[in-house]
Amino acid sequence: MKSYLVDSEGYYGEFGGAYVPEILHQCVSDLQEAYLPILESEEFQREFRALLRDYVGRPSPLYCARRLSERYGAQIYLKREDLNHTGAHKINNTVGQILVARRMGKRRIIAETGAGQHGVATATVCALMDMECVVYMGETDVQRQRVNVEKMKMLGATVVPVTSGNKTLKDATNEAIRDWCCHPSDTFYIIGSTVGPHPYPDMVARLQSVISEEIKGQLQEHVGRDYPDYLMACVGGGSNAGGTIYHYIDDPRVKIVLAEAGGLGIDSGKTAATIALGQVGILHGAKSYVIQSPDGQIEEPYSISAGLDYPGIGPMHANLAAQGRARVIPINDDEAVAAAFELTRLEGIIPALESAHALAALGKMDFRPEDIVVLTVSGRGDKDIETYLNYIKK
Ligand SMILES: *Cc1c(COP(=O)(O)O)cnc(C)c1O
Repeated sequence: MKSYLVDSEGYYGEFGGAYVPEILHQCVSDLQEAYLPILESEEFQREFRALLRDYVGRPSPLYCARRLSERYGAQIYLKREDLNHTGAHKINNTVGQILVARRMGKRRIIAETGAGQHGVATATVCALMDMECVVYMGETDVQRQRVNVEKMKMLGATVVPVTSGNKTLKDATNEAIRDWCCHPSDTFYIIGSTVGPHPYPDMVARLQSVISEEIKGQLQEHVGRDYPDYLMACVGGGSNAGGTIYHYIDDPRVKIVLAEAGGLGIDSGKTAATIALGQVGILHGAKSYVIQSPDGQIEEPYSISAGLDYPGIGPMHANLAAQGRARVIPINDDEAVAAAFELTRLEGIIPALESAHALAALGKMDFRPEDIVVLTVSGRGDKDIETYLNYIKK
């Protein structure tokens, strides 16, 4: 049977691979050789699982959202990644990657960040493991996610503001790759999503797959079967979605619905809706869909949500969309903000702006009352309060 997981060459269908500059070739191929033996070793699994339980606070609850269910006419369960230490799913991945980095003898950690959640999660595990940490962050994001910048500094990280392009996640990633090229032997690049050259998309998806592993057991307990009718998640690069669907990806009983950032609308020129608008291209080391001009220049993306403000998407998700395995719905800024207020008032949960995109997709679905829906709340809204309040003032 055809699988939607990565193949032995590092591809998902036509997407993926490792397109890196010559200078990084050695360290990327070292990682390609090392990651599976490390992730599958008993010693790694023991340490990773213990940290997920005692440090991150897993398992995260699967919560039956009664009022939200009534509103949308289905049985809606929320996977509460917002309750993790540091407030999002990102910590699952950084805990795993820093254990890989240590086993590969690396001493210095670099990362890129958009909303600052991955930066905070990386700075957190660097403090925990006593490693040097440098985080690249676009100047625009430094301003709109100030509190996360202060947290990273308090945790001991160096935050480098990036002023190229539109000063957001794409530009921060360019700068992190530049740093990596200058320090390929002693530095480990902790990528925050299912993007980048092989093996990153697969490594990150495996580390996040604890989400769907838990959903299986929790659904069995709640509803007496271990699979839902629908899985829903937002997608920036694709890591919370990848973790949510991992153990169901080849199960045709489960429909996959992903929400991407429409910004001001997919025809407005101010958008980050990569599946709606992207063409096949290469960005940050992998072949995937990319929002680009006819002559191949990367277009500047836009979204109210710093975590989704990216002109690419992970190769796993590009393939799911291309094959029709996943439905991808663009959600505009105003729809996301409205969905965030709705969840807050219906369930007393203030979601991250990114997660609010997934919530807004509920309104675009045609559910039957008996449908079981699991939607991942990827993070909490604390970092977005200012944006929410400014938005409703307008
Ligand atoms: C970073 C982030 C995202 C987007 O990244 P993915 O890799 O697509 O999951 C979504 N939600 C939150 C809360 C984030 O911090």
